[in-house]
Order: sequence, then C-alpha cells, then structure tokens
Amino acid sequence: MHEEASELSTRISRIVFGRIIFIAGMLLMSTTAADAKLAIVIHGGAGTITRSSMTDEKEAAIRATLKSSVQAGYQALLGGASSTDAVTAAINVMEDSPLFNAGKGAVFNADGKNEMDASIMEGAGLNAGAVASVSHIKNPIDLALKVMTESEHVMLMGDGAEEFARQHGFEMMDPAYFHTDFRWQQLQRIKAKETAHQQPSTDDQHDQWFSTVGAVALDRHGNLSAGTSTGGTSNKRWGRVGDSPIIGAGTYANNNSCAVSATGHGEFFIRYVVAYNICNRVELGTPLAEAADTVVNNILVKAEGEGGVIAMDAAGNIATPFNSEGMYRASIDTDGNMKISIYREEGEPEAALMGNVEH
Ligand code: ASP
Repeated sequence: MHEEASELSTRISRIVFGRIIFIAGMLLMSTTAADAKLAIVIHGGAGTITRSSMTDEKEAAIRATLKSSVQAGYQALLGGASSTDAVTAAINVMEDSPLFNAGKGAVFNADGKNEMDASIMEGAGLNAGAVASVSHIKNPIDLALKVMTESEHVMLMGDGAEEFARQHGFEMMDPAYFHTDFRWQQLQRIKAKETAHQQPSTDDQHDQWFSTVGAVALDRHGNLSAGTSTGGTSNKRWGRVGDSPIIGAGTYANNNSCAVSATGHGEFFIRYVVAYNICNRVELGTPLAEAADTVVNNILVKAEGEGGVIAMDAAGNIATPFNSEGMYRASIDTDGNMKISIYREEGEPEAALMGNVEH
C-alpha cells in the first residue's frame, strides 16, 4: 500500500515536472521570438545625387523602389527567414528595377556589354559566395548565394560562373533584358569625351560609380548577413572587377562585429579593404558608428575615394556614412521604424569630398 502510494506520487511529480519544463520551454520560445531584434538596411548606391539633378518623378520612383526593397527584406525577417534570405529578397527588388546599376539597368562596359558582380556573406560561420563578370544572370545575388551554398568555392567568374548557373537551373537572360536607354546614353557620353581626348567631367566620373545596390540584416537568431550587387563602372574594360564581389572590400559579415555593404569608387574600397576594415575596428571595441565614420569620412576621404557604406552590428545598431553628396538608402530598425533617405540630412556631417576638407 505504502509502495503504491509512493509510485503514484513519483508518477505525478514526473508529469508535473514534465509540464513545467514544457511550459517553461514554450515561454522561453515565445519571449525569444517576441524579443528578437530584427533590422535591415539597404543602399541603392552613392554618388553625386543632388536635388537639382533630380526630377520629382524620378525621386518618387526611386523612393518607392527603396521602400519595396526594405519592406521585402523586413517581411522576410518577420516571417522567420534568415538574414541571408532577407538580404537576397531586398536586393532582388533593386536588381529587377531599371533604376539601379544592378541586374536590369546595369551599366555597360567599354564593349557595350553588361558585366555584373555580386557577393553575399553570413556572419554566423563566415560563409561567403561571389560571382564576377556575369552577363546573362537576371539576379546575380542569387547566383552568389548558390556559389556559397552549392559549391566548395567562394568566387566564380565569367563563363565558369555562368556554366555553374546553367547546371543549377538558372535561366539565361538575353542581353537585351539588361539594356536601359539611360545607361546606354551614359556610355555614349563618356566614349564621346574619350574620343575627343577630353577629360570626363566630374558628373561623368561620378556617373561611373553610381547606383550599386546592397543590404545588411539581422535575423531572429542574432545572425548578421551582408550582400552587394552591381554592374560595376560605366565604360570599364579589360575585365575590370570592382569591390562589390570581393569579400572584405565591398561586402563583409561577422556576428562578432558587424555586417557591411559598400558602394563607391571600387578601386579605393579594394585598397582600403573597407568592409573588413570597419568590422575589424568593431571587433576590437570601437562602436559601429565611429568605426564606419573613420573609414568612410577619414581614411577614404584622405585617399580621395568617393562612396559610402551601410553597416549594422549584432545589436542591430545602424550606421550609413557616405562622403559623396548623396546615397540612396533605407532602413527598418529594431523598433520597426522605417527611414528612406537620398540626400544628406540635417545634423549629418557635410559631404567630406565635396566640401573644403584638407587632404
Ligand atoms: N563599387 C562599385 C564598383 O566599383 C560601383 C558602385 O558602388 O556603384 O564596381
């Protein structure tokens, strides 16, 4: 009788204990999901973007696309997607728009061809994928992701990258898909000046590195990712590749520090290893905003390297410094606040390269 009672009480306490563990687990899961910090920042390129050079119509179209892009990424995060998938979703929107220098609307090289570059990196395990000089891929960021997930390599280029794409079922686009009149005219202008042995004007030079796209995001598991996609620079030749597909230069992510996507004059971003340079400073203890500002508004300015970055740390802090006149950018922060900006805002430091900064 006594034994039966004690067996019963053991069973009851097991059941009660099991329930407590179950409820505690559920509570923990729900607080983790509710407390999860989600955030995303995107850019659509940096350059000479002034109010006087912009029509109301174009500005509205750009703002609308930036909004769709940042919302696509954020919706993915809300739905439980990884930061990598959110970055890809956001970049796809801008690659599909003719307004940006990535995917449809990419600039032309000196041979009148579109050669696109892209890269993606995950802060959790430092996995990365990149493609350079592809001409038939609708969404180069998707191919960069495929290189990361389905190959043992980090970067594939040219025909090899496209063969890899074919083997993985990517649709091969006709070059006409990427053509936009705006970019074609831009190339003709630069070429005419070249033939006349005229120096390209400041506007032409700035036109050359303009409207590359990128995104950085933080997901509910605390993982950071970064991605960048571009047509490179107008009139580029000899197989020129810029910073965008180069891990550490145009793109970098590490959960221990930050995620960065860059835009600007790629040669400088490669030399100063901009994306890694910022994350390395953060890992060594510098706050994100200070690290990003030092590299963009001090180191790059001294070198005369024009451009900007979007950056996010593991707490979801955001920094978007640029030393050009403007940078297309949008963000949704950890409180769910959305911001879409093109020009420099009040309180932001003056455009260092455009002002009277001593070099
Ligand atoms: N950084 C890109 C490149 O040099 C251009 C850009 O950001 O617009 O290829």
